[in-house]
Amino acid sequence: MHLTDNTHDPKLKSWIASAQAAGTDFPIQNLPLGRFRRAGSGEPWRIGVAIGDQVLDLKLAAAQSPWPDAVRPLLEPLAAGDLKGFMALGRPAWKAMRAALSTALAEGSEQAPFLELCLLPQAQAEMALPCAIGDYTDFYTGIHHALTVGRQMRPDNPLLPNYKWVPIGYHGRASSIGIGGAVTRPRGQLRSSGDAPHFAPSKRLDYELELGAFVGTSNELGRPLSMAEAEDRLFGLVLLNDWSARDIQGWEYQPLGPFLAKSFATSISPWVVSFEALAPFRRPFTRPEGDPQPLPYLDSPLNREAGAFDIRLEVWLKTAKMERAVRLSTSNALDAYWTLAQLVAHHTSNGCNLQSGDLLGTGTLSGPNPEQGASLLELSQGGKQPLALPGGETRSFLEDGDEIILRAHCEAPGAVRIGLGSVSGTIQAAV
Ligand code: CA
Repeated sequence: MHLTDNTHDPKLKSWIASAQAAGTDFPIQNLPLGRFRRAGSGEPWRIGVAIGDQVLDLKLAAAQSPWPDAVRPLLEPLAAGDLKGFMALGRPAWKAMRAALSTALAEGSEQAPFLELCLLPQAQAEMALPCAIGDYTDFYTGIHHALTVGRQMRPDNPLLPNYKWVPIGYHGRASSIGIGGAVTRPRGQLRSSGDAPHFAPSKRLDYELELGAFVGTSNELGRPLSMAEAEDRLFGLVLLNDWSARDIQGWEYQPLGPFLAKSFATSISPWVVSFEALAPFRRPFTRPEGDPQPLPYLDSPLNREAGAFDIRLEVWLKTAKMERAVRLSTSNALDAYWTLAQLVAHHTSNGCNLQSGDLLGTGTLSGPNPEQGASLLELSQGGKQPLALPGGETRSFLEDGDEIILRAHCEAPGAVRIGLGSVSGTIQAAV
């Protein structure tokens, strides 16, 4: 199965020197899209491509550079600042646009003299959500997270019987999704063991490291998607922090699941890395020996051959007292129990219509070892074992002034390293 093409060629270089800088997240093999404007300008948001430490402004690029005839209509929604309009064009358009951008930004490009005038340093850009998000669903594909959290509540029986059969999810809140920055500590109903319930700021505020997948094209209401169709709907990936108030959650979640413990904030990284860019980092999807195989509606040859993604994930913390952030954990998206295509197929399996710009969270992507927990709930064993930090501080849960930074990148032999960038949020005191 050939998922890669010329745009992934490791020998490909850009005329923008910083695209070749060691450790850059945005070499020419990546080409993620995001919504930006000149910081402080108050101008309308534009769509841009991250390349090295620059943004290529697609509004300017559409107007000021020659483009092949076939590419001009694809550029129209991007030039208008409408990423969702571009997503709705579908996979052939996404691939054609990627090929055109790759050619335009490659060394020796005849467009270089025009496009040089369409660059803005990322340091001078402010970012927005890539598009308006209509609906947000959060899944629970991190089996190591499910096991660790399950053990805290049910030591003998940590996984519920449905886990290995059904991709578990719940309907999240779209309006409070942002790209990070200030996150206000929520207040809510709390009940510590035996106390009367009371209303107060959360004392057990946490993060969850996840990936978010943008749905590119819609499906009709009442028309479930096959796995092959589901695969084709996936537009791109971002990092996602599902901020969680564990004490609010513990009191409210039965019997209908998360509500106010999660809906106060979700943060995503601003650059959407396309599934095309991730092609060199796809891996076979397998199940451990003895586990049930997915039911037929969640199975396909492509999913078996290349449904999983090798994406290296990191969580960093910077407290108000620290000069530099410390890394709290590393994990890998390969440990997810369900693939992204399975999430789309399952979500639509009852006829539910997904729409362009919907966001699907993977759930907390912890690794198999205890130090790979992708939330403080895991790392501090539910608050029983506070984490010792450099400088003598400790943390069971987040304190005001704490900044959480999520990062991710992909590496593989024969491929150029790409990254998802980062998303950071800083806890502000409850109001
Ligand atoms: Ca979550």
